[in-house]
Amino acid sequence: MTASGVSTHCPYCALQCAQALTPVAGGVEVDGRDFPTNRGGLCRKGWTSAAVLRAPDRLTTPLVRGTDGALRPASWEEALDLVAERLLRTRQVHGADAVAVFGGGGLTNEKAYQLGKFARVALGTANIDYNGRFCMSSAAAAANRSLGLDRGLPFPLADLGGAGAVLLLGSNLAETMPPAVQHLAGARARGGLVVVDPRRSATARLVEGGQGLHLQPVPGTDLVVLLALLHVVLAEGLADAAYVQERTSGLADVQRSVAAWWPERAERECGVPAGLLRRTARLLAAASPTHGGPGAYVLTGRGVEQSSQGTATVTAAINLALALGLPGRVGSGYGALTGQGNGQGGREHGQKADQLPGYRMVDDPAARAHVAAVWGVAPESLPGKGLPAVELLRSIGTDGGPRALLVHGSNLAVSAPNVDEVRRRLRGLDLLVVCDFVPSETAQLADVVLPVTQWAEEEGTLTSLEGRVIRRRKVLDPPDGVRSELWVWSELARRLGSPGVFDTDPAAVFDELARASAGGRADYSGLSHERLDTGEALHWPCPATSGAPHPGTPRVFTDRFPTPDGRARLVPVDHHGPLDDVRPDAPVYLVTGRVLQHYQSGAQTRRVPELAAEVPQPWVELHPLLALRLGVEDAAPVRLTGRRGRLTAAARVTDTIRPDTVFMPFHWGGAESVNLLTNDATDPVSGMPEFKVCAVDVQAGAPR
Ligand code: SF4
Repeated sequence: MTASGVSTHCPYCALQCAQALTPVAGGVEVDGRDFPTNRGGLCRKGWTSAAVLRAPDRLTTPLVRGTDGALRPASWEEALDLVAERLLRTRQVHGADAVAVFGGGGLTNEKAYQLGKFARVALGTANIDYNGRFCMSSAAAAANRSLGLDRGLPFPLADLGGAGAVLLLGSNLAETMPPAVQHLAGARARGGLVVVDPRRSATARLVEGGQGLHLQPVPGTDLVVLLALLHVVLAEGLADAAYVQERTSGLADVQRSVAAWWPERAERECGVPAGLLRRTARLLAAASPTHGGPGAYVLTGRGVEQSSQGTATVTAAINLALALGLPGRVGSGYGALTGQGNGQGGREHGQKADQLPGYRMVDDPAARAHVAAVWGVAPESLPGKGLPAVELLRSIGTDGGPRALLVHGSNLAVSAPNVDEVRRRLRGLDLLVVCDFVPSETAQLADVVLPVTQWAEEEGTLTSLEGRVIRRRKVLDPPDGVRSELWVWSELARRLGSPGVFDTDPAAVFDELARASAGGRADYSGLSHERLDTGEALHWPCPATSGAPHPGTPRVFTDRFPTPDGRARLVPVDHHGPLDDVRPDAPVYLVTGRVLQHYQSGAQTRRVPELAAEVPQPWVELHPLLALRLGVEDAAPVRLTGRRGRLTAAARVTDTIRPDTVFMPFHWGGAESVNLLTNDATDPVSGMPEFKVCAVDVQAGAPR
């Protein structure tokens, strides 16, 4: 499909569907545009995305909290002077790490890069992290450890089309990124789509009519499913012995670790029938190249990653894929389906607590020297590793913890786990500064709110879920009074007397980012806005060359894994289950997720009239058997009480969920936020909170 208008991409998820935008009176008109991931299609969020540009409550002037406690309009001069003065005072009295920065996976690559530089050079703080810690951190940690590189999908999404089997763990992509469903058509036609989800979600329903299998485990036991699948693969001689021998290490330890997970034992833990586990393992093996199949994929999403054992679960998924000989083979592989719009690029350019641009580690002396040279500062002036997101938020209000926080592209007052506690800590800060384009729930808690540009008002790049670097283009001017974050950081850096240059031109910032990334794991040094504007589809790594430009790398791992010995590592992992204690006699697990109409914290999509009208509020999904036991009627109020909080919402009685589980979507704030209940216990490797499963008590009736 072709469309006229300015070529850009959707403001929301990591599929980054291609759009053509035409300026019209009062905003832009949106059309779909042909592109390998969406093939002209958009979901409802993409079609209606223009509404947020002219949201009635769009922020157009800085706001400063007055002595009466209310936010009042202020000039940019006054707001920036105030912020700079209070940051300097905080730093002087409490030290540089008393100022913290929280970024977002929706920021462009240029902003993610500049924010990391601003934190480390202008503020001198180690304490920068971002909301990708809540999103991709477990997948990233596991991929880096096992494969030597974290690129969400190490192959183009369209490769899935030829597969005979796709094992999809913890992803409801039929609602979160509907245009991606078309890439599952091949596997469905061959009866090879396997969906692992405690709910019969829209994605799980894709397998109906003989198009695949649905495994519906007890929440928090996905790891057991994977251990059992690998047990069957090894026990039945289905592994790709030659691949394992040549391209991996560590088989013996992993073999020992899965030996006790025969399917009947796994069934007792995870609730998935042993026969179904065996059938799944055989189906995957039959589709794999070593058995003459067309190819197989193992894909993970947040459902299995947002767990205190998220890294272990993704590691088990990779172990399974490696045993079947899939990663690095054209037409097969393992991948993680990145969620946020720039969830991939957002984790490559230095807004993570432990990383510098180019996906370099902040404690690596060579990385520090390289990046410091690009920034024009001494390597020893760069701070070390900061606190990961949950720890950072928990340390607010403690001795030595942050006293000032700058938030960019994140709505923590809705999206953080155990959110009431987070709101309390945010309120206790000496200074909370929020840059946003709408008055999000977090902005409403701020001392200073700075109105910034969004999507169709700015130039930049993002990196999609398949590692493809794409251009975001400016289509219309922002409203009067709105500035870009690049300008905000430049102004603040000047007021703070910072060394280094903070450019405001996205193309110039990208060029600097490319230099900073040179030689790193995510090497962008062969890329530029100019080159991307020619329409080339370029996946990183794309290093600078002295001859013909590098063509980019759509598929990684084809020859070797970027580990010291070139082999992928099979890593043994153990299952411990959810950290909340459920009642053994009558367990009820709460799981959370997304709906088609809303994106992340809902700050944008709740402002789109069509989407808000379709799904105006959250609900509690529960099985008829549970509803009967508890005396809950469909559409009547139901109370959920957990260790960290309570809430009330309307019941939706449906047999698409397990009888021991309730579900709530997470796109709402205030008293409707399911994160009042979620567990902020974290994965020891990635720092990922256990969003996806907690214990609740469920009762019929309105709040008392
Ligand atoms: Fe595509 Fe995601 Fe935008 Fe929907 S929200 S149009 S799936 S990029």
